Amino acid sequence: RFSVVATAPPDSILGLNEAFAADTNPEKMNLSVGVYKDVSGQTPVLRCVKAAEQRLVDGEKTKGYLPIDGQADYRTHVRKLVFGDTIDASRIAVLQTPGGTGALRESAAFLSSQIPGARVWISNPTWANHQAIFASENVPYDSYRYLAADKKSFDVDGMIDDLTTKTRPGDAVLLHACCHNPTGVDPTAEQWNMIAALLSEKQLLPIIDFAYQGFGHGLDEDAVAIRAITNVCDEAIVCSSFSKNFGLYSERVGAVSVVSADSATSAAVQSQLKALVRSNYSNPPRHGAAIVATILDDADLTQMWHAELTEMRTRIRQLRSQFVETMKTTGAGHDFSFLLDQNGMFSFSGLNPMQVDELRQKYSIYIVGSGRINVAGMSEDRMDHLCKVVAAVIEG
Ligand code: PMP
Repeated sequence: RFSVVATAPPDSILGLNEAFAADTNPEKMNLSVGVYKDVSGQTPVLRCVKAAEQRLVDGEKTKGYLPIDGQADYRTHVRKLVFGDTIDASRIAVLQTPGGTGALRESAAFLSSQIPGARVWISNPTWANHQAIFASENVPYDSYRYLAADKKSFDVDGMIDDLTTKTRPGDAVLLHACCHNPTGVDPTAEQWNMIAALLSEKQLLPIIDFAYQGFGHGLDEDAVAIRAITNVCDEAIVCSSFSKNFGLYSERVGAVSVVSADSATSAAVQSQLKALVRSNYSNPPRHGAAIVATILDDADLTQMWHAELTEMRTRIRQLRSQFVETMKTTGAGHDFSFLLDQNGMFSFSGLNPMQVDELRQKYSIYIVGSGRINVAGMSEDRMDHLCKVVAAVIEG
């Protein structure tokens, strides 16, 4: 029976990780998958996380199941982190999920079961997993324009035009709250207000992917899209991930927050979200959420987290400028200063698939085929080498 099964293509991003691990070149460099690396090239466990884990090890009394929608104090903390005090808590259903991916998948399942016929509009380009997640729940999707032809800036007119002319009321729009993956190009606060007004006017449901809160400009600053949208839209879905900002990648910790117009609707929504979880993974894993809740319950650990998050964000900005400056010294004549306006881990480098291939084959530098680079994977020490080989492939 299984002999009919065809081999699936490798994942476009995680597949590169496997190739990287097998590469024996000591000069190899992985700028593909989105993980933060510190000065020593490691993806560290944050100090606040280690401290919280120590407390958990000492104090944990049970490995019993969590409720279907997750740990209650964690859910409260997520609501405050994402929405502050801007919305009445009774209008928000928060569920702990396995990572941001779990939150997106739960949103897709919710659309599929509760709003049949809705399509979801996805930015072009977007994170490589978005389409597959909605396809898995049989939610039809299409794309709206996002990146301008120069591949460096936001095509606000294109996006507004597509959402105005192509969508139907009731459709959903997937938005990146900040640190757009893969481009690093974000709307300004005024542009968010325009987008929010359009969503409200056209009765479109915002699904906001919030995988990088704190990686752009700060925890509150990065929530500008959430504020703009929930100011004018009665309903919205926010998918949070704590993989990056707490460095909890493998613990799979995230949340889906669904905002409804009133508390009675919210209770019904929460019940449907729980029903979907029950037949999927039954209830979420405890450890990652317990770490986040322990940190956010404690003023000192919270302060430590803020400092560590600021350190990561600041260092990524420094790597961006070091790359831009070092590229200038190579004489390759290609100006990368657009990277300085972009946010988060990723940017479109403008390198074409042939150049990306050459970087991998000749120099063991791993970049996603689209030319997306993970700036957070660069290192100060090896910047000269990186820029030299990038210049070599650009010059051909
Ligand atoms: N959305 C975006 C835009 C992402 O970049 C990622 C992670 N690469 C996710 C969601 C998923 O995050 P997680 O690893 O927490 O599932």
